Amino acid sequence: MSLTRVSFAKVNLFLYVTGKRNDGYHELYSLMAQINLWDEVELSFEGSGIRVACDHPDVPGGETNLAYRAAELFCNAYGEKKGALPLDGVFIQIKKQIPVGGGLGGGSSNAASVLMALNEYCSGIFSQDELMALGLRLGADVPFFIFGMPALATGVGETLEKYDDLPKFHLVLCDPGVSASTSDVFKNLKFRLTSRRNYNMNTRLNALVGGQGGDSREKLHNDLEVSACSLYPKIASVKEEMEFLLERNVYMSGSGSTLFALFTGPEDARKAYGLLAKKWSKGSKKIFLTSLKR
Ligand code: ATP
Repeated sequence: MSLTRVSFAKVNLFLYVTGKRNDGYHELYSLMAQINLWDEVELSFEGSGIRVACDHPDVPGGETNLAYRAAELFCNAYGEKKGALPLDGVFIQIKKQIPVGGGLGGGSSNAASVLMALNEYCSGIFSQDELMALGLRLGADVPFFIFGMPALATGVGETLEKYDDLPKFHLVLCDPGVSASTSDVFKNLKFRLTSRRNYNMNTRLNALVGGQGGDSREKLHNDLEVSACSLYPKIASVKEEMEFLLERNVYMSGSGSTLFALFTGPEDARKAYGLLAKKWSKGSKKIFLTSLKR
């Protein structure tokens, strides 16, 4: 028996860093949405133990893959609850399309897909909240992919509030050909707000950004851009060139390196995609035409 899951990427339409916790994690205020760009994750229930293979050269197979860790965590949690193993063996195969180290949450999405597929295989033994709590142990973005809807994320990303009425924006993405390290980008962040209380910060940001609703295009922002651009100058140069060519603002998703421009109409997005794809047909940059997932 096998289960195949489409594992979507996300973008952070805005991302503010609001605080730093004593354990070193940063607190965020972010509007996150899944996009129509995905990996394929197939689980075959066969053999014994957990095995993972991925077709991307920069993604490890085996125990260090987030999909492996998700399966292991699920089996342990199942064992604690039921006193038995949920399965003899599972072979997880990942076909990658989401840029790796691109701030699009590819690894987290794969992990969430594995947790949800295994939960379905086990007749929904865990509630969605329990599954999100398990996911958080693997990474701050994992709960969002289990939540499955556009959301305002606070805390380290685990407190999610459904964001209503996000228009079906179209996006042109550019993977500049740099894999950005999330931990390096956070470490390099010049953080000036540590003395302020997060609650006040979130309230102030809500007022500034407008919380729910309003024109989402006016809210685009990423506090991590300066840090990522100083560590990886190519992100800065591609952003500048993209803004020049498309005559509009371009933003970075998450901790980088993927850049995106937002469009209300599919035709404008298609034109912009065509322009960049032609201009950058050779070289390490990759262009994607996509849209927000409903
Ligand atoms: P994050 O912000 O969560 O780091 P990202 O989108 O910037 O996410 P990913 O594509 O998730 O980055 O990959 C980050 C690192 O995780 C890479 O070094 C990659 O080798 C490793 N990794 C482990 N498992 C996976 C997986 N299933 N898919 C992608 N990367 C994975």
